[in-house]
Amino acid sequence: MRMVLLGAPGSGKGTQAALLKQSLAVPHISTGELLRAAVAAGTPLGLQAKAVMESGALVSDEIVLGMLEERFGRADIGSGFILDGYPRNLAQARALDGLLGRLKLPVEKAVQLDVAEETLLGRLAGRAKAEGRADDNPESVKKRLTVYQEQTAPVIDYYAEHGTLVRVPGEGTVDEILARILAALR
Ligand code: AMP
Repeated sequence: MRMVLLGAPGSGKGTQAALLKQSLAVPHISTGELLRAAVAAGTPLGLQAKAVMESGALVSDEIVLGMLEERFGRADIGSGFILDGYPRNLAQARALDGLLGRLKLPVEKAVQLDVAEETLLGRLAGRAKAEGRADDNPESVKKRLTVYQEQTAPVIDYYAEHGTLVRVPGEGTVDEILARILAALR
């Protein structure tokens, strides 16, 4: 299965992707994780991305696409993949289609996790305490939700137009949501 997982910050993409990785036996590719690893390693790319990520804005399309091309160069994606955190805008959605078209590994399903805004805010506040992520402070959270509405939400329509979109309610227990996603993939 080659899928992208869509949803607002706090919608549970990371949690579900980790479980789907086990169920589907395919790699989980998170652009946020790749970027956080680059920041932690202090690479030139990480140094460039750090402040932008902390502010809650998007890192440049060029940087993220370069990182993704490198990741998609690895052989393990032949079995499929769960892409989490990408695409974040329409230009990225088109770039991804270009890249995967060249690799002859097009996206089969785009799963949108639908979660109410109050739930997102509650989950992000909880995560800020539990994980201490630099971009889970109140100002960055606000910015990330605005960026999501303005730039990322249009990506849902993009996949609807391509006939690959499925929408899944992202509220309930982790297991209930996982079962819904697996059912939607069938
Ligand atoms: P995430 O872990 O997916 O919530 O991503 C954390 C942060 O990494 C985002 O707020 C962005 O600053 C950056 N980021 C992750 N994925 C992308 C992407 N596809 N395009 C641009 N920036 C990204």
